[in-house]
Amino acid sequence: MEFQKLVEILNELEKTSSGNAMREILAEFLVKVPVDDIAVVCYLILGQISSEYEAVVLGIADKSVLKSVAIAAGVELGKAQKIMQETGDVGLTAERVLQKKTQTLIPVGKLTLHELFDKLHKIAALTGTGSQEAKSNMLISLLQKASPSGAKYVARMALGTLRLGAGDMTLLDALSMAYTNDKKNKALLEHAYNICPDMGIIAETLAKKGLKGIEKIDIHVGRPIKMMLCQRVDELEEIEDKIPGKKAVEAKYDGERVQAHKDLKGKITLFSRRLENITLQFPDLVQELDTQVSAKEFIMEGEIIAIDKEGQHLPFQTLMQRRRKYDVKQYVKDIPIQVKLFDLLFWNGKSFLLLPYEQRMERLAKIVRKSKHVTLADKIVTEDVEELNEFFQQMLTEKYEGIIVKSLTGEYQAGTRGWNWIKWKKDYVQDLADTFDLVIVGAYHGQGRRSGTYGALLCAAYNEKEDVFETVCKLGTGLTDEVLAELPKKLSKYKVNQRPVRLKVKKEMEPEVWFEPKIVVEVLGAELTKSPFHTCGSGLALRFPRFLQFRENKKAEQATTSKEIEKMYGMK
Ligand code: AMP
Repeated sequence: MEFQKLVEILNELEKTSSGNAMREILAEFLVKVPVDDIAVVCYLILGQISSEYEAVVLGIADKSVLKSVAIAAGVELGKAQKIMQETGDVGLTAERVLQKKTQTLIPVGKLTLHELFDKLHKIAALTGTGSQEAKSNMLISLLQKASPSGAKYVARMALGTLRLGAGDMTLLDALSMAYTNDKKNKALLEHAYNICPDMGIIAETLAKKGLKGIEKIDIHVGRPIKMMLCQRVDELEEIEDKIPGKKAVEAKYDGERVQAHKDLKGKITLFSRRLENITLQFPDLVQELDTQVSAKEFIMEGEIIAIDKEGQHLPFQTLMQRRRKYDVKQYVKDIPIQVKLFDLLFWNGKSFLLLPYEQRMERLAKIVRKSKHVTLADKIVTEDVEELNEFFQQMLTEKYEGIIVKSLTGEYQAGTRGWNWIKWKKDYVQDLADTFDLVIVGAYHGQGRRSGTYGALLCAAYNEKEDVFETVCKLGTGLTDEVLAELPKKLSKYKVNQRPVRLKVKKEMEPEVWFEPKIVVEVLGAELTKSPFHTCGSGLALRFPRFLQFRENKKAEQATTSKEIEKMYGMK
C-alpha cells in the first residue's frame, strides 16, 4: 500500500474533533487496507512503530529533525527555523517547505508503507558513532520521497509527536466495526488485547482469522499481560457485599509493581505496570528470581520495595532512585530491594489466569524459596471484618499503604478493574481527605512568582465507558518551586494546538495551553461538589485540590475514573 493512502486518512482524522466520527472514518478505511499492511497501519495510527511495550524509538535528536527537513527541501536552516517559530510544529514546517520544493523541482516519489516502516526500524536500530548522521540521511530520503503532507507526518514520527487522539480503545472499536460489522465485538478484542497488548497482532489476527483467531490468542512468555487492577469501596463493610465469606487480605505495599517472565531458555524479563521493560534496572532481582524460583517457565507478579541493611522497607521515594539507565551497579549496592510476590499467571506451559486465586497461590508458595530479596506478600485469610480491620491497622503501623482484599475463588482479570481485588487505603479513613490520580490536560500561564511556568493545571478523571477524559479541578496548590520549575519541560512534549479529541471540557474552563492526556498526578482533595464548570460524571468538581506527586508509573487510562468519583460523591 502507498503511504499516501494513510496520509489522506491521517489528514482527515486531524480535522475531526468527535470521537465517534473518528471511529467511523477509521473503520471505513481499515476495511480497505490489505491484510499484510494492517499491523503497520495500526501501529502508525497510534504514533508507534512497534507494540507499545517493545517501545522502539527512532532516537533522532530533536535538532536533527528540523535540520533534515531543511536539507530535504533544499532551504537554509534559518528559513526552516523561522517557519518552525511561526507554526510551533515540525510537521507543518516540513509540509510548508517541501510544498515549495515539489512545485518547482522534483516530482513526488512513491513511498510505500512497508518501505517507510522498514526504514524507520533501520533508523531506530542505528547506534554508536556516526549513527546520528546516518539516521538523518535516512530521514532526509524519507522526507523527500513522501508528499509534502506525508512529510508532515514523517517529521512528527521522527520527533515522536505524531498524536491523532485516537487511543487504543478507539482503534479497537474501529477494528471491530471494520471486520465484524458490530461494535459490540470490541469486548472480545479488548479481552484479547489485555492478554496480548500488541495492536499489530490483534489487527492482523482479526483481519486474517476473524474472531475465531482472536479467541485463540493466548499468553506468550516474554510478552507482557495487562495487569489486573483493584476496585475501591467507601466503607469497609462494603467489602463483605462484594467478596462474601472467607477472603484473603494482603498488605498493600507502596512500591513498584513488576511482572516477571521466565522463558524456556531461562531468560528473565521484567515489566512495569505501564508494561515498560525494566529488566536492566533490576539485575539483582533477575538473579534472585533465577535462583529462588523453581520453574522452567513462569509469569509472576509482585511489588518491588526498597529495603535497608536490616531488611526493613524504605519509602517509595527511595525506590524511585533505582529508576535509571546509568550507574545501575552502584545503585544495586546502595539501594537493595525486595520483591513481595503476590500472583502467578503462568507456570511450566500452563496458563493460570482462569484458576482461582487459592490455587494460584498454592503453586506460588510451592515454587518460591524465600530469601531476603524474594518473598511472598504478607497476608491473612479471614471472614471476620474485625480481624480484617486489625490486620489493616497493623499494616499501617508497619508503614504500608493499607490492604488489598482478594477473592479466594477469583480469577486473574487481566487489564480489568474487577471486584476480585479491593483496595482499602489509609487515606480512606482520614476525614474527607481522599487522594485522586488525575491527568493533566491543560494549563494556565503563571503570573508574578510563577511567570515563566504554569500557574495552575487543568486536571481530569478518566471515563472508562466512553474512553474520554473529564475535567474535575484546577490545580494550583501544593506545587513546590522544584515542581514548578520542571513543569514546562515535562509537559512540552504533550503540548497540542487544540483540544485533544478525547477530552470533554466546558467553555469556561478552557485552558491557555492544551495537553494530550499523558501525565498523571496524585492530588489530595477536600470535598466533591456539583459544578456547572466541570464535565466529570454528572458535573462534579474537586474542591481545594493539593498536588502530592507525579505518578510516573500510571498511564492516563489508569487514573481515577469518573465513575469512582461519582460513587464517592454519592456516599458523602
Ligand atoms: P492503586 O495504584 O492505588 O490502584 O493500587 C494498586 C497497586 O497496588 C497495584 O498496581 C500494585 O502496584 C500495588 N500493590 C501493592 N501490594 C499489592 C498486593 N498485595 N496485591 C496487588 N497489588 C499490590
